Amino acid sequence: MTEPVIAYIGIGSNMGDRQAYCQAAVRFIARFPKTSLITVSSLYETSPLERTDQEWFINCVTAVRTTLSPRELLQACQEVEQFLGRKRSVRFGPRTIDLDILFYGNRIVQGPDVTIPHPRAHQRRFVLEPLAEIAPELEHPTLHKTAVQLLQGIKDRQEVRRWAPFPLEQKAG
Ligand code: ADP
Ligand code: MG
Repeated sequence: MTEPVIAYIGIGSNMGDRQAYCQAAVRFIARFPKTSLITVSSLYETSPLERTDQEWFINCVTAVRTTLSPRELLQACQEVEQFLGRKRSVRFGPRTIDLDILFYGNRIVQGPDVTIPHPRAHQRRFVLEPLAEIAPELEHPTLHKTAVQLLQGIKDRQEVRRWAPFPLEQKAG
């Protein structure tokens, strides 16, 4: 019997009904096998980073308790992306939905298709704001800083606005 770990999944959408896509993603996550949803952050509206000629994003972060392996969890996340119609055309471009595994317990995972902690999580305000809301004391396993400390250290000026509490009935999943 594998010990469950707490994993954090970052969710983002900037096409179509962004809130509905994020809610749908959380509903799928809540139904992942061997996984239970712990909590979801508020929804945040965030300005696009790499390509500024696109719609603002809605982002949130979920915490789950899971016995899926990192690869199984990634695969489950990618199935949700596919189901919700993500088109992988332009890197950093518009997407209906993006699911990133930010942390998997305090494990460091370096595989051919999965890197955990997510290599850019600690630099991204759109990840750290919602993460600091639900897990302010969570410590980055290699940088040894908490979510709040990482957030305080970011220099980029991305705009991140708390937009709405996560719709509660969806939390029950
Ligand atoms: P980004 O999320 O950085 O904008 P993509 O979602 O297009 O970019 O990147 C997807 C690729 O990143 C996938 O093919 C996946 O294998 C890889 N990847 C590596 N580590 C992770 C992780 N921790 N979470 C999600 N995807 C990851
Ligand atoms: Mg991604």
